[in-house]
Amino acid sequence: MKYAEVIAIGDELTSGLRLDTNSQWLSERLGELGVRVMYHATVGDDLAANVRVFREAIARADLVVCTGGLGPTADDLTRPALADAVGLDLIQDDAALATIRSMFARRKREMPERNVSQAQFPAGSRVVPNPHGTAPGIDLTVARKNGTSCRVFALPGVPAEMREMWHVTLAPAISEMTGGGRVIRHRRIKCFGVGESDLENMLPDLIRRGREPTVGITVSQATITLRVTTAGSSDADCAQRMAPTLQTIRDCLGDLVFGEEDDELQHAVVRMLKSQGLTLSVAEWGSGGLLSQWLSDADEAGECFLGGFIVRGQRQSQLLASPNLLAEHGLHSTHLVQAMAQRCREQFATDMALAISAFPHSDADGGVPGRVAFAVASESDAGGETHDSPFAGHPDILKPRAAKQALDLLRKRLLRRQ
Ligand code: ATP
Repeated sequence: MKYAEVIAIGDELTSGLRLDTNSQWLSERLGELGVRVMYHATVGDDLAANVRVFREAIARADLVVCTGGLGPTADDLTRPALADAVGLDLIQDDAALATIRSMFARRKREMPERNVSQAQFPAGSRVVPNPHGTAPGIDLTVARKNGTSCRVFALPGVPAEMREMWHVTLAPAISEMTGGGRVIRHRRIKCFGVGESDLENMLPDLIRRGREPTVGITVSQATITLRVTTAGSSDADCAQRMAPTLQTIRDCLGDLVFGEEDDELQHAVVRMLKSQGLTLSVAEWGSGGLLSQWLSDADEAGECFLGGFIVRGQRQSQLLASPNLLAEHGLHSTHLVQAMAQRCREQFATDMALAISAFPHSDADGGVPGRVAFAVASESDAGGETHDSPFAGHPDILKPRAAKQALDLLRKRLLRRQ
C-alpha cells in the first residue's frame, strides 16, 4: 500500500465550531499499523464539494477513511456523495435496515422514515457494523482504470462510535491489507537550553530527508523535541532500529536532554528532587504562579514541592527582600532575586528554593530587551546561584519561557549534585 487519505466531513468543522479530532486520532492509528497518511481533507456539507473530495482522494490514495455525514438528515451527504463520485447507485441493505429498526425498538421509539436512508449503500459495499449508533459505516473497494484499487471506509462522526468501529472492523481489515506485521513507532527526546539551529548543528547529519530512522525537530515555547520514527515488524524490531540513533542524540546533546515522550522540565526536576531526597519552594514575581502550578501538577502528592510565594508588586516583595536591596539594585537584579530565594527557603524550611524576578515591561526602553533574573538557593552554599537573561516579548510567551529557564537552572544544579 502506498498511502492513505483521511477526510473529515461537516460544516461544524469547516466553520471552526468544532476541532477535527477524528482525523488526528485516525492518523495516529493508521501510523501504528504502518500506513502512511499523506493527505487530510476537511469539507463542508455540500454535495458537489464532497463528490470532488472523494474523487480526488480515490484517484491518489490506496486507502481512504472518512468520518461524518452518515446521519439521517438532509445535510448528511456522505452516502450520495460517495456513490456519485464512483458512479454507483445507492442500494438498500435490508439486513442493515432491520438492525437500525431493532435499535429504535430497543429504545422504545418509532423509527422515523428518514432513517431508512442510513441503510443505503453504494452497490457492492460491505456494511461496517455500528454497535452503539444508528449509522452503519461503509466499506467499498473502488477499481481504478490502471488496474489498481482504492478501499474507502466511511464512519460516523461521533468519536466514540467511530473509535469502536475502528477497533472492531477497520484495524483488522487494514492489517490484513498491509499483510500485517508492519508497524510504525516514534520516540520523542526532549531538550532545553539552546536554539533550534544550534541544536541541529550539534547533531551529525541526523535531520536529513530519507534517513532511516527519520529524525524530526519541533520547538514549542523553547522546548525542543526530536522525534525519531521508524517502521519495523514489531515493537521490539522498531526499538532495535531506533536504539543507535537515540544513543547518538544523547551522546551529542549531553545534559541538554532532560526527558522523553511527554516529559516537561518540571517532571525532570521533580524526579531528581525525589531521587536526591530534597524539598523545594519557589518565589515568583513575573511568572505569577506558573512555576507553582507546574510543580504542583508534577508532584501531586506534595512529596518534594512544598509551596511558594507569588509577589506582584514592590510592596509585596518586601516580604522576601529588604527595600534597600530593591532601591540599590532594581527590580530585575540578581541581588534581589537571590535574596528572595534565600528568604523563601528559610520560610518554607526547604532544602532548595527557586526564584524568578519581575519581568521587564514589554514597551520599556524603546524595544531594547529588559532582563529577567533567576536564583537557586540551597543549604550547601549560602550564596546560591544566579543567572539573568535578556527577555522581550508578549507576557504569554515570557511566562512559560522564564518558568522553563528557572527550572532548567535548578535542573543543572541538581545534575551537578548527583
Ligand atoms: P450522526 O448519526 O450522529 O448524525 P454523522 O456521521 O452524521 O453521525 P456528524 O453529524 O457529521 O456525524 O457528526 C456528529 C457529531 O460528531 C458532531 O456533532 C460532532 O460532535 C462529532 N464529530 C463529527 N466529526 C468530527 C470530527 N472530525 N472530529 C471530532 N468530532 C466530530
